[in-house]
Amino acid sequence: MMKKNVYQRCDKLRKMLKKEKLGAFLVTNFTNVTWLTGFTGDDSYLLVTPEGQTLLSDSRYTLQIARECPGLPVEIRSQSMSAMIKQLLEKNCSSPCTLAVESNSVTLSQAEALRREVTSELVPVSGWVEKLRSVKDRAEIAKIREAGRIARNAFHVVRASLTPDKTEKQIADEMENVMRKLGAKRAGFPTIVAVGANAALCHCVPGDVRVKDADFLLIDWGAEYQGYTSDLTRVLITGKPSAEFRKIYRIVLEAQRKAIEAIRPGVRCCDVDRVARSYISRRGYGKCFGHGLGHGIGLYIHESPSFSAGCDTVLEPGMVLTVEPGIYIEGMGGVRIEDDIVVTRNGCEVLTDVEKDWDDMFVH
Ligand code: ZN
Ligand code: ZN
Repeated sequence: MMKKNVYQRCDKLRKMLKKEKLGAFLVTNFTNVTWLTGFTGDDSYLLVTPEGQTLLSDSRYTLQIARECPGLPVEIRSQSMSAMIKQLLEKNCSSPCTLAVESNSVTLSQAEALRREVTSELVPVSGWVEKLRSVKDRAEIAKIREAGRIARNAFHVVRASLTPDKTEKQIADEMENVMRKLGAKRAGFPTIVAVGANAALCHCVPGDVRVKDADFLLIDWGAEYQGYTSDLTRVLITGKPSAEFRKIYRIVLEAQRKAIEAIRPGVRCCDVDRVARSYISRRGYGKCFGHGLGHGIGLYIHESPSFSAGCDTVLEPGMVLTVEPGIYIEGMGGVRIEDDIVVTRNGCEVLTDVEKDWDDMFVH
């Protein structure tokens, strides 16, 4: 049943081929291949033709493909990839056949080999599968929701066992272990734990600084569940932070609230970004919010579309993105509050349910 849904994703690509008057499409991005087939290995390509699709793989994966992709036509490499593609195109395409390739993933040497051995009509395309992937179906949303649930439960375990002597690195390791124990395949990305001034570094690598070395710490974490990732950030208060820190926290939280309120189908991503950005700017911290408001999540931790000034994608139901405003001040630290939302028919739903009011963030 589920496989059928997955394979139907190729039908959408066939429609695009037809519209663009192209003969076939070679998918070389392994994550895109996974999304289109359910096959979770790598080193494999998918050739989509007007009549069907064929997974091109090698013998290491024969058994795994049989298990993960029942019914999907497969060619196991016994010759070069180009030779296999040439054969398949001769069988499936009326000649001369134009071949669309993913320009963001095909290498120069692959492109040269394809031109030399398969067709001079190589057409680079970009973002086709990524655009389809940006709208999640019910099963995908359920997986991201579960990834968010695991992340929440892990946060509560880590929070409850926080002690003044623990280092950033110890807390990050603990978070990743707990997420695995609670059902995650692994962390969706390397966990960030930043104590005090380190929180001004958006991608701080957890080190030897201890909880007791400052008044607060920032944790940015997420779980991977059946390939899909959640992504959250919270700040925990472990001492007596300054009045300015408290003010910044409330500005970031309110910016996030306003942005979430603005999310609904038909709104452009850049306009959601602007809601949070202009609020933070009006409060005098515009220069301290350097990154985009959020990014799509799914099989990748960063997917399209994104809540940023340069993204004019119009929101559609089923899109899943993070909302993560932040204010960073060198020497003092930073606040970022991040949740994951899914666009619904008339607004959005927050998929990550973790406390974030100032009064709830104190660790005693
Ligand atoms: Zn994050
Ligand atoms: Zn994020």
